[in-house]
Amino acid sequence: MKEIYNTMPSSNRPSMIAIDGPAASGKSTIGLRLASALGYLFFDTGLMYRAVTWLALDHDMNLHDEAAITALAEKTQIDVAPASKSDGRACDVLVAGRDITWQTRLPEVDANVSVVSAYRGVRAALSSQQRRIGKRGQIVMVGRDIGTVVLPDADLKIYLDASAEERAKRRYDEIIARGGSADYHNILAKVIERDRIDSTRDVAPLKAAEDAVVLHTDKLTVDEVFEQVIALCK
Ligand code: C5P
Repeated sequence: MKEIYNTMPSSNRPSMIAIDGPAASGKSTIGLRLASALGYLFFDTGLMYRAVTWLALDHDMNLHDEAAITALAEKTQIDVAPASKSDGRACDVLVAGRDITWQTRLPEVDANVSVVSAYRGVRAALSSQQRRIGKRGQIVMVGRDIGTVVLPDADLKIYLDASAEERAKRRYDEIIARGGSADYHNILAKVIERDRIDSTRDVAPLKAAEDAVVLHTDKLTVDEVFEQVIALCK
């Protein structure tokens, strides 16, 4: 796919690419693949919200104390860098030089991240860092509000969607494939709850930008979604 893509002149390629969508819609899988086909930076913005949530939990902070959580987001330097290890990670997440990549994936982070990411001050602090990085171009940035708020003038905006049942099934299959154990109904309930909080919050709710291309992926394989995304880049 990389070779096919490299036959087109680089000046015609979209430079800032935004991919948004609900939890487990395949944004990271597709975004990472697209970034590596184009030789672009892959930046998963959800990791920043996850890093703040993990730090707050690690410091035993009250997650409902908006002012304290906002102060934490403002003072913490979070780096999302290309993966330095081949242990299944898509990016490294570093806080003050410490690798917290796997901590950001803990179930307690999943359960609380949507509360933290709904705070206006947290979003202001993290979106301005994301914008600064995104403006450099040659980037595939994934999240919930990239096309609407962080990079409203992105060259290409894609919104990946799938039913909650399909997304929960994909998450379940991933865990089982890694040798873990999981309960499908529990995953489905959590996906639905995260969608509800993310799409009903006052600040930067999850939604497709008006000029985004919406791809419904329920009946598509990862390869098929990727082919459609690559076609959009031409
Ligand atoms: O994409 P991921 O599931 O890792 O995102 C974790 C959470 O971070 C989301 O459920 C959402 O609450 C928040 N988020 C956000 N805006 C972004 C990226 C993620 O609010 N741009």
